[in-house]
Amino acid sequence: MPTMNPDPHQILEQTFGYRSFRGPQESVIRALIAGEDALVLMPTGGGKSLCYQVPALAREGTGIVISPLIALMQDQVSALRELGVRAGFLNSTLSAQEVFATERALRDGRIDLLYIAPERLLQQRTLELLHEARIALFAIDEAHCVSQWGHDFRADYLALDVLQREFPSVPRVALTATADMRTREEIVNRLGLQDARQFIVGFDRPNIRYRIRQKERPKQQLLRFLREEQEGNAGIVYCLSRAKVDETARWLREEGFNALPYHAGMGKDERAGNQARFLRDDAMVMVATIAFGMGIDKPDVRFVAHLDLPKSIEAYYQETGRAGRDGEAATALLLYGFEDVVKLRQMALQSEGNELFKRHEQQRLTSMLGLCEVTSCRRQVLLRYFGDTLDAPCGNCDNCLDPPEEWDGSEAARMALSCVYRTGQRFGANHVIDVLRGAENDRILSFDHHQVSTFGIGKDIPVEQWRSVFRQLVARGYLDVDPEGYGGLRLSAAAKPVLRAEEAVWLRRDRKPAAVRAIGKRERGAEVDHADQPLWEALRACRKRLADAQNVPPYVIFHDATLRAMLAERPLTPSAMRAVSGVGDSKLERYGEAFLAVLRDISL
Ligand code: ADP
Ligand code: ZN
Repeated sequence: MPTMNPDPHQILEQTFGYRSFRGPQESVIRALIAGEDALVLMPTGGGKSLCYQVPALAREGTGIVISPLIALMQDQVSALRELGVRAGFLNSTLSAQEVFATERALRDGRIDLLYIAPERLLQQRTLELLHEARIALFAIDEAHCVSQWGHDFRADYLALDVLQREFPSVPRVALTATADMRTREEIVNRLGLQDARQFIVGFDRPNIRYRIRQKERPKQQLLRFLREEQEGNAGIVYCLSRAKVDETARWLREEGFNALPYHAGMGKDERAGNQARFLRDDAMVMVATIAFGMGIDKPDVRFVAHLDLPKSIEAYYQETGRAGRDGEAATALLLYGFEDVVKLRQMALQSEGNELFKRHEQQRLTSMLGLCEVTSCRRQVLLRYFGDTLDAPCGNCDNCLDPPEEWDGSEAARMALSCVYRTGQRFGANHVIDVLRGAENDRILSFDHHQVSTFGIGKDIPVEQWRSVFRQLVARGYLDVDPEGYGGLRLSAAAKPVLRAEEAVWLRRDRKPAAVRAIGKRERGAEVDHADQPLWEALRACRKRLADAQNVPPYVIFHDATLRAMLAERPLTPSAMRAVSGVGDSKLERYGEAFLAVLRDISL
């Protein structure tokens, strides 16, 4: 893009092939072009990149992008080059020769966008280099890394206030998807952005469909989900333990899936290799612990499935947030059961730290469990947790799409709680349920529990339903879990009004597995019509071929959204192809013919 072009709309259209800006993009871009500073808080997939890429092209000089995600720089730069943008990067992976060439290009004004790791930027040599070049703007990506409270803290980010001092006339924009007040204030203070204009978009990720189901046979549930709804898609399956990650990945491969494991117990090279394959492949399932995450910038992750319960809503939101960064429909599926509730309650009690910390952990878990058990819109609960509001139910979560039934569980809760009390408040749910159902097994006889007054009073309620009752009683804090690790239950203070029949308990009615199946079908996300399947596959194959030839991920050629638009519009001429969203001048020239050939071939 050698000629300077100050019109943002024209850049959007010609270079990126998009028709219109999204949300606050245009305001951010105009502010930066005018030389103002900006702070941009936008959820993942909101379109932060364009906020600095367009003004970098519109202003004279090079846009400097500071990012901690070294592993991604190569792909980001490849993607920009495909668009005809002169992009480069400076980080520790380059040879001396490559560094030299890039520095020279920068001095000569032959780079539009330059990605730099923060530690590299702070070197005296780099700062001097930047003084010799013309700088269009500084973009500080992943700006929440300045926060010492956050998980992603980078000490180098604290020193980035040097930019304000040394380059006072260059506009700066800080961008992040982490939007809580404290982080926001830290970014402003540490980066000297007191005068920056703030652009804040809420937390909502409307394209993610949240679904939370009780565990029945988790493997079968996962298999059905993958086969019936996610065929040919890329996604992540999160498990709590390394052993379970290995086991699940092996099992999925036996079932014919392209699945790989990822956890901190693996060697560095193997981990990096698996991650690279995940980024490159169209249809791969990554089975991982939460060690897999930061820097997974793959835009076309179509699903995130949790086989174990996350510890908090923050963790759930962050992990599910890796789905659907491209804005296309994506699914977050969580399977959880009574054992998860007990295990996490215990972990929180046993965790290192003082009482206050433990109480905090319990509260965070209680909020997470609340999200699992709620019968109203899940997105409303999720957003409220982050201090955001959604006025109407979302229509894109399982509870909205298929409202669950509630039943008056006051009587059952009373039976359950009093049976816990009568048996001495030290037994787990299975035993207490046996007592309620009047089972005469050895364990019961040996403790004389066939003599207690609650023996057999609950035999009309099936075991499964009792398990559901106990799960919900623990989830809502009527019952506490014994911290020693045997799963013993005891009454909490909240149980009293229920026992005295002063408080009603409405419970969620769990679904039968058969019903789950039918809903699964109906809830399918952005699937392709059956009749369009051959063309869709052909377009994807064409994209994969071009991507492999250049050793870049498929989305660098075209995003899913663009292929989907081709499917809908069926362009047969170059000008019709140019009108497809995501096809700009450069991509039309490079790939237009290849995709037109596929479209003509199938349309004949
Ligand atoms: P973020 O960095 O906020 O997670 P990205 O900048 O990666 O999000 O953008 C997410 C997706 O949305 C990308 O596929 C991008 O090409 C697309 N996108 C961004 N802005 C627009 C727009 N104005 N029109 C169409 N697609 C857009
Ligand atoms: Zn909803």
